[in-house]
Amino acid sequence: MLSKNRLRLAIQKSGRLSRDSQNLLKKCGIKINLQKSSLMAFAENMPIDIMLVRDDDIPGLIMDGVVELGIVGINVLEEEKLARKFLGTAAQSYKILQNLDFGLCRLSLAVPMDTEYLNVFCLKNARIATSYPHLLKKYFDKKVFFFKPFVLNGSVEVASNAGLADAICDLVSTGATLEANGLKEVEVIYRSSACLVSQNMNNIPLFKYQLIKKLLTRIQGVIKARESKYIMLHAPREKLEKVIGLLKGAERPTVLELVGDNSKVVLHMVSSETVFWETMEKLKKLGASSILVLPIEKMME
Ligand code: ATP
Ligand code: MG
Repeated sequence: MLSKNRLRLAIQKSGRLSRDSQNLLKKCGIKINLQKSSLMAFAENMPIDIMLVRDDDIPGLIMDGVVELGIVGINVLEEEKLARKFLGTAAQSYKILQNLDFGLCRLSLAVPMDTEYLNVFCLKNARIATSYPHLLKKYFDKKVFFFKPFVLNGSVEVASNAGLADAICDLVSTGATLEANGLKEVEVIYRSSACLVSQNMNNIPLFKYQLIKKLLTRIQGVIKARESKYIMLHAPREKLEKVIGLLKGAERPTVLELVGDNSKVVLHMVSSETVFWETMEKLKKLGASSILVLPIEKMME
């Protein structure tokens, strides 16, 4: 029996988002004892219950008010919203609290490699296989032409090889699966990533609202820390400004004396961008030495 006094959060049980979702919660300091076969897991150190479900079920659980929070692809969320709108279902509301830094993908149209493709109008009257009929319809409605969608909830990429479809509309990240199936990507119709989504905040009791705020701050801290690097180096005193100029996205540095060498100073700074090898080579050319780029575990501004 679910307790009313605990926040309910739905994540994907197994699939592309499950490991990253679990890692994110762990990084936020939530201790969960996950059992493989179980639908529920209970956080030991915070009043949070985790529901482990298929990703397609998460938008509905949010919109119907069964759980307060979810981690899901924005693509799945938007498709469910459009499906509910189409069916005239009242409950369609949700709030994306935070875009997350995983589950990055795009919903794309793809055609067989040997198709002569000039533009999207080549797909007029085409039979298109997809798991996202509403997102596809929204895209084609703007182009004002007719197509024949049919829904496949898996193995969409084989539909054209099997002679079932002229084109497909499916999720792509690297494009390797399309290529392996003899397809080429021709139009991107939607870009997506995972997100933290909540019910309409007006319906949430105050203590849960405060817990969501706390969790959100921690999630933002985890993302910020993952994007940021701690940089330490020794720089020639007279080249200091040039050295700082190379480290874009960095906050103003701390500059310390280097004991026993007055010509150099020690520089510590946090950079919100990855420091590439090319930048390190340029720093070295300016006379910098002992250049260290370190990951940041946690961050709160
Ligand atoms: P479930 O069994 O939970 O229904 P699924 O097979 O529908 O899982 P997955 O393939 O695990 O879903 O994908 C989950 C989400 O991961 C997608 O909805 C999308 O947001 C994201 N994703 C990122 N890259 C890709 C990709 N290359 N192909 C498919 N999904 C991707
Ligand atoms: Mg699914």
